[in-house]
Amino acid sequence: MSDAFIGIDVGGTNFRLGVVQDLQVVWEKRFQADFSGVCRRLSAVEALDTITATLNDAVTEARMAYPSIRAIGIGFPGFIDPASHQVISSPNLPGLSNADIITPLEQCSGLSVVLENDASAAAYGEFALSQKSDGDLIYMGLGTGVGGGLVLQSKLHGGVHGVAMEVGHITVERGGRLCGCGNRGCLEQYASTNGVVQTYVELTGKTLSAFDIAQAVLQHDDAAVKAFEQAGEYLASALAHIAKVVDVGDVVVGGGMSASWSLMQAAFERRLNEDLIPTLRGKVKVRISQAQDQAGIIGAAMLARRHG
Ligand SMILES: [Zn+2]
Repeated sequence: MSDAFIGIDVGGTNFRLGVVQDLQVVWEKRFQADFSGVCRRLSAVEALDTITATLNDAVTEARMAYPSIRAIGIGFPGFIDPASHQVISSPNLPGLSNADIITPLEQCSGLSVVLENDASAAAYGEFALSQKSDGDLIYMGLGTGVGGGLVLQSKLHGGVHGVAMEVGHITVERGGRLCGCGNRGCLEQYASTNGVVQTYVELTGKTLSAFDIAQAVLQHDDAAVKAFEQAGEYLASALAHIAKVVDVGDVVVGGGMSASWSLMQAAFERRLNEDLIPTLRGKVKVRISQAQDQAGIIGAAMLARRHG
């Protein structure tokens, strides 16, 4: 039997742990864990202790089902120092600063642990699932925010300071909506579920969930149609800039909002064609993730396999 690796995809209010064998998630469980609240309520030291203890309990549970685990990979929502692999900071988990999650987990589990930015882990997962031995890939994750990852020549490119592909904070509307990062007009203020909700509020004065706005598109609600079209246009505009910089032909769009891709696709493709330089038009291949939101788990596990 081939080796098994744990991949963990950490979010602000829950995390998912999967056991991965041969690129297949053979065991998976979602754990409710309000890490965001923990970080707001407790001191940095206490919050870190709580997070690592909670992750270790989940690892222990998975190893009861799969005793042959070789190593652990974690996709974490924050900036990761490429040298120390500590969490430099995390917008969704405030208070964490140069936090070492790896060492306590390695001590408790006796396994090697790797930690990577969550969108980068998803990018690596998408690359692994493409079954290519070499190549490049851009990943754009559309959820409550917008994250990104870049694989160059089969390796993740995280940048010198661990902030490469912070695509959610590309300015797409000068003087636009205020973003959590402190700037205005960032992509994630428009091309995320929160962005679609905000666009709909601005157009109608009504607050609906992104899911309900997607349903309203089917009822020919003009504002709902516009909200998703605008998300697609801004995403395309940002991607055109990225493509001009890195010249990568394969793009995967994932995250929860990619389920509504059909509502954005036409506007996205129109704007991408307009904004790309002529040489690149028709050559940037964009596809929707087929990983059923498991790319982050698979990517984290594959990084563990590579480094473990
Ligand atoms: Zn921003």
